[in-house]
Amino acid sequence: MAAKRVIDGVHVVPMGMANAFLIEGDDGLTLIDAGYPKKEAAVFGAIRGLGRSPDQLRHLVFTHGHPDHIGSAAAIVRETRARTYMHPLDIPMAESGGPFRPMRPAPGLLGQVMCRLFFHPDERLEPVAIDLPLTDGETLPIAGGIEVIHAPGHCAGQVALLWRPGRMLFAGDVCTNLMGLGDPVGFESLEDGRASQRKLAGLSFDAAGFGHGKPIPRDASARFRNRWGHRPDS
Ligand SMILES: [Zn+2]
Ligand SMILES: [Zn+2]
Repeated sequence: MAAKRVIDGVHVVPMGMANAFLIEGDDGLTLIDAGYPKKEAAVFGAIRGLGRSPDQLRHLVFTHGHPDHIGSAAAIVRETRARTYMHPLDIPMAESGGPFRPMRPAPGLLGQVMCRLFFHPDERLEPVAIDLPLTDGETLPIAGGIEVIHAPGHCAGQVALLWRPGRMLFAGDVCTNLMGLGDPVGFESLEDGRASQRKLAGLSFDAAGFGHGKPIPRDASARFRNRWGHRPDS
């Protein structure tokens, strides 16, 4: 599957059952997440599809340190020398390449099944060194401005990233969009995870991308508000 445009300047790169996103900026290319292992060719293919070359990938920003988001990172960095960014709470997992902190399945039968199928805390991957720790509330001066929103619950080091120029939110695994907006496969803390979903529902953005499921090109924040926002009558 080839990369697909979501909005001007953003392409979704299918990385197996997970998504990565490529942002075109004046200062080169930025990749959000690095998928499962052995998927680096999908990223390089997407970059070439934009008429660019892999050495123009400058930044690799991770939404969190799970295996399905860092799997091809080491291979991508070797080829591109992109700078890597991650929240400090997840850096040890990325830099050791596992094991990964355990999660509890999300509420419901589907969560039980999916978590067991897709999340293996004992998995070992090629480690990736992180150059810069992410801080809640900062705006990275890359791709025209990417705001970092710490959104723990699924994973302690989970962040959402708001790309200011395109008003696109990268939600990572705070939520999925598989059969409509829903939970990730599991949570380290369900309570924190709910709080983070509500936090994202309080933001203003147009488009949204997810670690898993279809991106939403427009009116995305209204859908988040419907799902997790405060309703006046409740
Ligand atoms: Zn995850
Ligand atoms: Zn994931």
